Amino acid sequence: MARPGRIKPPMGHDNAWWWEQAAKGVLAIQRCSKCQALRHPPRPMCGECRSMDWDVLAASGKGTVASYTVLYHPQFPGFEYPLIIVLVDLEEGTRITAELKDCAPEAVDFGMAVTVYIHEDDDGFRIPMFRPASQGGN
Ligand SMILES: [Zn+2]
Repeated sequence: MARPGRIKPPMGHDNAWWWEQAAKGVLAIQRCSKCQALRHPPRPMCGECRSMDWDVLAASGKGTVASYTVLYHPQFPGFEYPLIIVLVDLEEGTRITAELKDCAPEAVDFGMAVTVYIHEDDDGFRIPMFRPASQGGN
């Protein structure tokens, strides 16, 4: 019997566009059109100036680990354990939470340089993840 896949994130009016960009290989960052503040995850209103106007920039995908956690239990289907979750300071100036791959749990550290890549599940679902910058990105 095939293993169940990753639980898909809810996608609605405010965030489906972000997943569409990810499927195209782009790590998108929402930017306020009025004050230029960056924000992630996507949401309808700027937390700085309350503007509802926004556009998008494509992140370089380069950043550093601001914080992290390593999950062993409980083990949900569709994930490989231990699961390293990192909070990344993107060089553009905002943060994103994602999985860190190609890294031993004991090797992850604060300030570690990481690079985004687009992971593709067996069912074709695409999701941005990070790997150590020392291993190169694409
Ligand atoms: Zn704003």
